[in-house]
Amino acid sequence: MLKQNHRAWVEIDLSAIKHNVQQLKRCLSSETDLMAIVKADAYGHGAIAVSQAALEAGATWLGVATIPEGIQLRNAGITAPILILGATNSADEIKAISEHRLQPTICNPKQALIFHEVLSGIQHAIPVHLKFDTGMSRLGIDWREAVDFVKLVHGLPQLAIGSIYSHLATADELDQTIMQQQQQRFEQTIAALKAVGICPPRIHLCNTAAMLTDPKLHYDMVRPGLGIYGLYPAPHLKKYVDLLPAIQVKARITQVKSVVAGTGISYGHSFHAPTDMKIATVAIGYADGIPRGLSNRIAVAVHGKRVAQVGTITMDQTMIDVTHVPEVSVGDVVTMLGGEAGTTADDWAGILGTISWEVLCGFKHRLPRINVEVPELSSAYLL
Ligand SMILES: *Cc1c(COP(=O)(O)O)cnc(C)c1O
Repeated sequence: MLKQNHRAWVEIDLSAIKHNVQQLKRCLSSETDLMAIVKADAYGHGAIAVSQAALEAGATWLGVATIPEGIQLRNAGITAPILILGATNSADEIKAISEHRLQPTICNPKQALIFHEVLSGIQHAIPVHLKFDTGMSRLGIDWREAVDFVKLVHGLPQLAIGSIYSHLATADELDQTIMQQQQQRFEQTIAALKAVGICPPRIHLCNTAAMLTDPKLHYDMVRPGLGIYGLYPAPHLKKYVDLLPAIQVKARITQVKSVVAGTGISYGHSFHAPTDMKIATVAIGYADGIPRGLSNRIAVAVHGKRVAQVGTITMDQTMIDVTHVPEVSVGDVVTMLGGEAGTTADDWAGILGTISWEVLCGFKHRLPRINVEVPELSSAYLL
């Protein structure tokens, strides 16, 4: 197999991706589309393969952050509509969007007028998506100024309003006060638009957490990211769907050695062998995205056994305790995350004081993405 040549890699179970899309779709009515959010190389999972799997499992839209991310999918032959979630401001970007049939987000009158100018003379209007800021205070027109903004775009012949959307700041929290306030602002603005005769063809608001929390927020489309990768935005959301993490991180053992009690291991000797031990060196480190802050704090797996990582994680190499794995030898595969390691990105995030989204996006491109598919899983959920 291909893997034979790799020192370390990320393994993606595409049947888990499909399973997760199916599970999320089950929460939706037949009128609601699912846009798979595949920005940041599909949260580190590999955007092309994940997009193809998600579309096969019933997603109908894709969402990316940047224009190059969208172009990558078009170049791979993907024809589904692709929304660019980030802002687009320059003439070159607008031309690239039009050329690759990507669908931009527009957030203010100035941006709309740049599009109008750059696209003057085109035959067919291009679809644009208008973003309202209802409380996230990131991207989007302030909801109080939104009606005038939509009217302006409505009057520009080169632009066709494809959808209106907003993004929630606190959907993963148990307290829904702020989420409900954002929803009210969103619905109020849509109602005000209808009152002046503008009925957007599509409106959407939900990330993974919101779509699990409240079906009233589903509208015409939902935009899950994290759930597609098999992780829950918060523990209280586990009861709604049965998701499977799709990622495993693996690496090979490059050396096995015996050390006597008291031996210091790795930089700074942050670990001393309490007894005589057998230590294996694994060809993966923080330059691959194994955070150094996990040093001496995680379990990994080799030969189906969970063992402790010991000593400081270095740039390219990491040590593990294989004292109780007699069969271990050079070339053996160690599961650093997921699978037999029995850990998820949530566990690592908990240790590091961050969120699973950041852990997933942290695996570097030095690690090849290898796709596997478990046929029983695919057929069980897709047929
Ligand atoms: C990233 C993103 C999402 C997906 O969020 P998850 O919490 O990963 O489901 C949805 N909408 C927008 C605008 C985003 O930027």
